[in-house]
Amino acid sequence: MADLSLPSLICNFIDGREIPASAGERFEKRSPSDGRVLLQVARSRAEDVRVAVAAAQNAQPAWAGATVVSRGDVLRSIALGLRDRLDEVARLVVLETGKSLKDARAETGAAVEMGMFVAGEGRRYYGRTTTSAVPHKTAHTIRQPVGVVGLIIAANTPIANVAWKVFPALLCGNAAVLKAAEDTPLSAWAFARIARECGLPPGLLNVVHGFGEEAGAPLVESVDVDLISFTGSTAVGRYIAQAAGARLAKVCLELGGKNPLIVCDDADLDRAVEASVLSAFSNAGQRCAAGSRIIVFEAVYQEFRDRLLARVARVRVGCEDDDDFGPVINAAQLDSMCAAIEAARRDGVTVLTGGSRLTGPGYDGGYFLAPTLLENAAPDATISRTELFGPVSVLYRVRDFEEALSLAHQSPYGLTASIHTVSVHRAMTFVARIRSGVAVVNGATYGSEPHLPFGGLDESGTGWREAGTEALDVYSEWKTVYLNFDPGAV
Ligand code: NAD
Repeated sequence: MADLSLPSLICNFIDGREIPASAGERFEKRSPSDGRVLLQVARSRAEDVRVAVAAAQNAQPAWAGATVVSRGDVLRSIALGLRDRLDEVARLVVLETGKSLKDARAETGAAVEMGMFVAGEGRRYYGRTTTSAVPHKTAHTIRQPVGVVGLIIAANTPIANVAWKVFPALLCGNAAVLKAAEDTPLSAWAFARIARECGLPPGLLNVVHGFGEEAGAPLVESVDVDLISFTGSTAVGRYIAQAAGARLAKVCLELGGKNPLIVCDDADLDRAVEASVLSAFSNAGQRCAAGSRIIVFEAVYQEFRDRLLARVARVRVGCEDDDDFGPVINAAQLDSMCAAIEAARRDGVTVLTGGSRLTGPGYDGGYFLAPTLLENAAPDATISRTELFGPVSVLYRVRDFEEALSLAHQSPYGLTASIHTVSVHRAMTFVARIRSGVAVVNGATYGSEPHLPFGGLDESGTGWREAGTEALDVYSEWKTVYLNFDPGAV
């Protein structure tokens, strides 16, 4: 059985073997919950990426030649292997992220479900069969692999992020080079070990560790990589679109959000408060779909604000299962959020609660930010338009539905949005008019399921969707097949 005990050094995983970075370089991975050094990680550069891409190129044709059903069978074995080791993997996620075991288990369960869903797609790998204008001619479509795919992910829900890309990429007959998030090397390492043990042939999933500019950029710029599928910040996504676009490589970008949650005057306020707290603070706000703008009708503003503040006062920050959220992923992330809050304060924004790093027993050395609510920010202020990716949300007061919708749209992003109302008319009008990839009625701004597409508009992405059958469109190319026949030759 694959050994998943904590290693002192995480190596790259190339062609089924674990090897250090070619120049022997390493970096330290620290624990977000107390700042201590957890382990060393291979610090890869262009040469390591080159070797990984070559391994993928070598392995891909045979994998593409297998039936999609048999590829799905291997992926099902990996999903079941992950399920068998769920607790061990979740404990690694706890170590690398500082989140509670309960949350890490849920996230690992979600990764298993993604594997099961995608494996089943091997038996639903449908194209279209249709007519032709020409007599004795038929037409149909089939999916083709893209080739070698470069996968680059963020650290926020690390094992799920691996699963969301690796399972569909492999199902479609590609070979992958995954650039793991530098803050979460353990989950990618464990996934690769489990995949190998469950029968994935060498070279199909290669994992390269390291920093974005050193190990990610060479993958983006490699002429031998046919697709880059990226989950991360809009700034890096913009660079990837340009660099990969220069050689016309296919690019799927899943980027940031500044997602609005609207509370109407007819909302169930307790429900809206609960959804706001979860949207803003769960996973320490490190969700692309976090509810970082809470837009409230003035008729209920005071009442909602009071109830929300009372609820936030009961939010528990820490790493245990009965805590609501844990640390953010690294010290730089914590510092940049604190700086953004300070800058907003100087601009006249009111900090209703939180706003600073937590210290004292249980927090020392860790990267904990108090749950933070802000008020009196202009819709076009920097704090209103910038994704902080932490437990920080801003409250806004609006007159009515039209003003709420207009404020919701004052954002460069278009990922998710939620409305709280009992009016079916308001709900359906919101669903029709909100510019976002996901619209929620009476719920949180986050939450996705493996069989449904996820992604956003504007600066949240470039039009592709991950998860769902729609993910297959990212990782495959359509081929149209014409078949001519001659009844006279029967
Ligand atoms: P980031 O963009 O800094 O890093 C993400 C990944 O990109 C990391 O693996 C990093 O090493 C790599 N990277 C950085 N610079 C690179 C470069 N020049 N070339 C190639 N790779 C590079 O993002 P982050 O701060 O780690 O993650 C948070 C961001 O991810 C937020 O914006 C969040 O909204 C977004 N996110 C989006 C989704 C989604 O599905 N839309 C899901 C999760 C997170």
